[in-house]
Amino acid sequence: MKAPRFAYARPASVAEALALLDKHKDDARVLAGGQSLVPMLNFRVAAPKVLVDINRIAALSGIKVTKSHVRVGALTRHVELERSPEIAKHLPLVAAAVPHIAHPAIRNRGTFGGSCALADPAAELPACALALGATFVVAGKKGERRVAAADFFRGLYATALKPGELLVAAEFPLLKPGDRSAFGELARRHGDYAMVGVAVHRSKKVRAAFFGVGDRPEVVEADTADGVLSKIPGLEPRADLHASAETKLHLARVLAGRVLAQLQ
Ligand code: FAD
Repeated sequence: MKAPRFAYARPASVAEALALLDKHKDDARVLAGGQSLVPMLNFRVAAPKVLVDINRIAALSGIKVTKSHVRVGALTRHVELERSPEIAKHLPLVAAAVPHIAHPAIRNRGTFGGSCALADPAAELPACALALGATFVVAGKKGERRVAAADFFRGLYATALKPGELLVAAEFPLLKPGDRSAFGELARRHGDYAMVGVAVHRSKKVRAAFFGVGDRPEVVEADTADGVLSKIPGLEPRADLHASAETKLHLARVLAGRVLAQLQ
């Protein structure tokens, strides 16, 4: 199928993009990598009147390491995360997760911000943001605000973004000496969305963000890996096209056991 008719705008700055989003309100939709939005248009799941293409806004791209955090611009492509020495060094959890996202053609276009703004419950990057305690930087007509990852994912394809707002970046705290992380997922084929996955970060506590288990990624936190394992029944996964709730719970337990063992 073909997409319904839409008007197209390609702002050159965040300010221009925000003005367009404010002008067209619910009729507008941000276009980033288009890897989810374009199929949604073609299947007529979405029918915005105006697409606001942010691909020419240089300020939204790139990875920057500061004294306190690693800032990942919303328009940073999955492939850039995959190949970045800074990400490998400072966010090894993200580096481990990205090769599980779809296929190279999709990773060449798909963006970090698009993945987080879409909030697919089986997506890898939202879980990494939760496990690592990232903060999202959101711009709107009244300026910027920051939203902790724990408050950002609100439900099935639902986030804390309000109409007219743009996701600008995420800030990941720098790792402390001794911090460890590990990642794993189970999918029917490599590159498919996960049936169940988990992103784990150990700092003072062990925080595991499970995905593919409910309407959003779910965090389980405890003092030890064993403590996380003992809390897994509380996940209460939902059945989906891939598996029953019981199967997902079993897979979550087995996968978490394997991934937590990598922290040793
Ligand atoms: P787009 O498709 O352009 O936009 C997605 C949504 O986010 C739209 O609603 C858009 O308006 C909004 N949006 C985008 N950027 C912003 C922003 N900066 N501010 C506010 N709103 C914004 N993803 C996974 O995580 N794991 C997978 O295994 C996986 N497998 C896939 C397999 C296939 C076959 C395909 C087609 C896609 C797959 N994806 C997967 C999705 C892929 O990662 C997409 O790139 C991602 O979901 C959306 O990113 P995008 O940049 O393409 O966003």
